[in-house]
Amino acid sequence: MQKENCIFCKIANHEIPSHKVFENEEVLAFLDLSQVTKGHTLVIPKQHADNVYDLSSESAQAVFATIPEISRALQQETGAAGMNLLSNTGKVAGQSVSHFHLHLIPRHDKHDGFGAKWEVHNEEYTAEELATIAESIKNRL
Ligand code: AMP
Ligand code: ZN
Repeated sequence: MQKENCIFCKIANHEIPSHKVFENEEVLAFLDLSQVTKGHTLVIPKQHADNVYDLSSESAQAVFATIPEISRALQQETGAAGMNLLSNTGKVAGQSVSHFHLHLIPRHDKHDGFGAKWEVHNEEYTAEELATIAESIKNRL
């Protein structure tokens, strides 16, 4: 299903152009217009889902099934030393387009344009607290 006025639905539907790198029946991968590093690619399900909460297992499987092959192609093309896979859900996490997408960002070094702040708060969580948190989450699944 397409969603009206969704820019990525329009790209998936070939209503607006993109620099396509991969396509099958369920999935499209194209270059991000704002290249964080060379080859920065977005992988989307053609079926609209706002974000990861909204994504069907079928779309998730279809998207993730393509990731190793696309990542290898990006690595070979760019000579990247590493790769970040990133999906932003919600404004607070930096999501600007409400159609699920996975960023593939080839990485060269720590100062190549991409960075994620990663503050660790180990002192706030004892082993008992971690066990309680894990149990509570598990009970929701
Ligand atoms: P996010 O901020 O995680 O929602 O990522 C959305 C990404 O979509 C941004 O990095 C934009 O540069 C990219 N983007 C927006 N419009 C287009 C477009 N028409 N073609 C390619 N990339 C786009
Ligand atoms: Zn959409």
